[in-house]
Amino acid sequence: MFDNQNPQEDEVKRVGSDWLWLSGMRRYHPGVCHKCLKWPKNVNNLKKCAGCKLIHYCSRECQEEDWPTHKELCREVRADGNQTVFSEAKLSVKKREDWWPFCKDLIRSTSLQLGRELEWFERDIFLFPRVCEVCKDAHVPRLHGCRECNSVFYCPAEHSVQEKELHKQYCYSFFLATQCDIFNALHGIPYPQPFPFPTPVEEVYKSLPDNMLDLLSPQIEGKCSEETLKLEPILAFVLSDWLSLPLSFLFAMEKISINDEQEHLQNLREITIHVIGAAFREQAGRFVNSMEYVLHRLPNLKSLNIILIGPNLETEFTLSNDIENTNEEDINKHCNECHNKGKQVLYKEHHMVYHEYTELYPNNKPNAIIAYNCGFSSCKSWVTSFNSMIHDSSIPLIFTSFTKSEAESDLKHIQKANVEVVLDICKNPFSGQRPFRHTPREEGLFYINNYIGVVKGKNGKGAK
Ligand SMILES: [Zn+2]
Ligand SMILES: [Zn+2]
Ligand SMILES: [Zn+2]
Ligand SMILES: [Zn+2]
Ligand SMILES: [Zn+2]
Repeated sequence: MFDNQNPQEDEVKRVGSDWLWLSGMRRYHPGVCHKCLKWPKNVNNLKKCAGCKLIHYCSRECQEEDWPTHKELCREVRADGNQTVFSEAKLSVKKREDWWPFCKDLIRSTSLQLGRELEWFERDIFLFPRVCEVCKDAHVPRLHGCRECNSVFYCPAEHSVQEKELHKQYCYSFFLATQCDIFNALHGIPYPQPFPFPTPVEEVYKSLPDNMLDLLSPQIEGKCSEETLKLEPILAFVLSDWLSLPLSFLFAMEKISINDEQEHLQNLREITIHVIGAAFREQAGRFVNSMEYVLHRLPNLKSLNIILIGPNLETEFTLSNDIENTNEEDINKHCNECHNKGKQVLYKEHHMVYHEYTELYPNNKPNAIIAYNCGFSSCKSWVTSFNSMIHDSSIPLIFTSFTKSEAESDLKHIQKANVEVVLDICKNPFSGQRPFRHTPREEGLFYINNYIGVVKGKNGKGAK
């Protein structure tokens, strides 16, 4: 069913071997060897740790090699006979909603016993265990793992049959989520500079293709003329999260410029974007790197000014490529074509909430305000800034969310301010393509910038 189940190391390294690779984070997946992360021929044949019975290995060697790292946790959660810390789950978890608290309790109590926070991969052990997806039966020897995605397990009788059809919808996404995590753990996190953009700088404005995969497929299938633009599929999925940032912005701008008197995208020479609720993710140089793609799609755009604004920006990571003190060296980080055409991305950071920013700089008017994976509904501190976000009815407020239900609730929250919906919540065709495991699993898996919407203040009424 799926190709490329075991990407060969040298095959992957071939692409972008001159990039910087940051060390990757270890994750736990119930269907691959916990040490070497090898994809087994049959997930049901992995050997389990005899102590905790929670993690699995391809061989005795892998288990022995991993023991120094695993033994501390293993001793805390070991159980007699065929029991595991999940043996109670079938009885305790009556409803879907009970599952997440059950897992959280295990994490909390284990962390207390160990007297330290759990590592990410250790938390994963409690969040994505081998239990039946439906009834949470943890009697391991009887469980059957899906042999295509190695990610979900069912008790053999009714649940493996009953869930088969439903699981088919998500099976490939689980497979991809696992492959992307393995890729990062084995090879690291790619930090491409310049970014392998799917298209060079355009001469005339071309509408966006239908979706991210259409845009990336020539690169993945090696049909790109330039050797450097070829990508391994898994790498393309990993990088799509970054490419999703400029593309979500362009998608929104394309949608709203149809109805608006806004200058056509073809003629824009300078754009200023306020990225609000910005945090470490946006400070990572890759964000600014990837935003260069806006310069590629908009032929006359010379300068893209990005103002990162957010109370959670971290001072020790402050970016240096300041709008006021740009130096030649920083501009050279762009691709040759942008460099030769004098196109540049400039940025500045403000460690504050948005209403503080607009009070300090009332005359800094952006072309758009954007909140990536906004959390309007989950993060209470947004409320005080809503009015300043929609204060000027000529400035669109673009926001994205991880899931549909979250997007709907984010829209509901911003609608408490006096807004008009410019683009109703929709599935973002330029969301990240990399699936992430979701706990609790409400909607299968989640993606970066999965849903998108645009609002703006109603004429003359948005003011504070
Ligand atoms: Zn192994
Ligand atoms: Zn163990
Ligand atoms: Zn079951
Ligand atoms: Zn599957
Ligand atoms: Zn460029």
